[in-house]
Amino acid sequence: MEANKKKLSLAFWIFLGLLLGIVAGFAFMGAPHIAVTYIKPFGTLFLNLIKMIVVPIVLFSIIQGVISLEDIRKVGYIGGRTVVFYLITTMFAISLGLLFANVLNVGGSANFATQGLEYQAAAAPSFIDTIINIFPSNAFAPMVNASMLQIIVIAIFFGFGIILAGEKGKAAADFADSMTEVSMQIMGLIIKLSPIGVFALICPVVAENGLAVLGSLARLIAITYLVYIIHAVFVYSTMVGTVGKLGPVKFFKGIMPAMVLAFSSASSVGTLPLNINCCEKLGARKEVASFVLPLGATINMDGTAIYQGVSAMFIAQVFGVELTIAQMITIVLTATLASIGTAGVPGSGMIMLAMVLESVGLPLEGIALIAGVDRILDMGRTVVNITGDAACTMCVDAVQKKKEARA
Ligand code: ASP
Repeated sequence: MEANKKKLSLAFWIFLGLLLGIVAGFAFMGAPHIAVTYIKPFGTLFLNLIKMIVVPIVLFSIIQGVISLEDIRKVGYIGGRTVVFYLITTMFAISLGLLFANVLNVGGSANFATQGLEYQAAAAPSFIDTIINIFPSNAFAPMVNASMLQIIVIAIFFGFGIILAGEKGKAAADFADSMTEVSMQIMGLIIKLSPIGVFALICPVVAENGLAVLGSLARLIAITYLVYIIHAVFVYSTMVGTVGKLGPVKFFKGIMPAMVLAFSSASSVGTLPLNINCCEKLGARKEVASFVLPLGATINMDGTAIYQGVSAMFIAQVFGVELTIAQMITIVLTATLASIGTAGVPGSGMIMLAMVLESVGLPLEGIALIAGVDRILDMGRTVVNITGDAACTMCVDAVQKKKEARA
């Protein structure tokens, strides 16, 4: 009974934190500054703690994961499969976004004043810069700046180095193993605070944005969320059910705590430790989860891709631009790259939207139209982003297990 209660408790409390946070948010809608001044800081504190532990977790668990795969080729197989899974689901996600936005006429019926809109696009990096930037010129700076992709590269190289060093690498391997365990224990402590963190994160967001859901952008929000749900339910259920050999209900139940945290924090990277925890509980092996998930939190953004597809279509329709099939294909390709380049932190998908719009000559000022509700769209896309990472982890793990059983 006691054990049962414990098992239920974290997911239950996180969910309760979300519900209470939403209710309190509505209560503070008349005076949002109260929620912002007195409640938001606790959410920030919680996120700071997660950000503090995420760098050591990613660094050590990937080094340890690479070492435990024992073979550089095996890392290549898993990495290759992971990237293929990620790319296919992302392209599918944008196509779904474009299709629904088109069929449901996302921006057509609303009347928006498009004159006088201004949006200063932050410079989105070019494709080639995105690739070059993955490889750091300094081994420490990426950890200071929490540049995830660069940390992953460093960790993979150190893992390879330790494997190649053989006996002499043993001390380093033991150190990585021990530090992974220590970091995970710290993470466990921080995760215990998630119900309070989720409450404090969601409450000010609802207090400040609650009414926007009912405003003129309601149609955009509703269609974007519809596509999020369709993609998550159909694509991921099919993936985990067929390739991952896992019941979809069990899957969604297992990662629910991570989904709730993603919704309230709008940060894939902030959700990473909890997502690793949930996938391991669902049976994914540690070495696979701790390799595939950090990679996913950085490069796999299906929700962001959907958002970019729907938003691009919305902006095109509002500005009266008819997109050709070739332009839609361009959107699929650039949004795939843009979602890879999107950092797993709040709001970054909107910055990368500029790259997508530019690729087909749509006006960047359109971003100003949707910027006000970006947070609402961001919460949903982050949930899809991390659910996609988890689904892929379960699939890659199942495929790898099967391969090993055959060998
Ligand atoms: N907030 C999203 C995430 O962390 C990224 C985005 O803004 O699209 O996954």
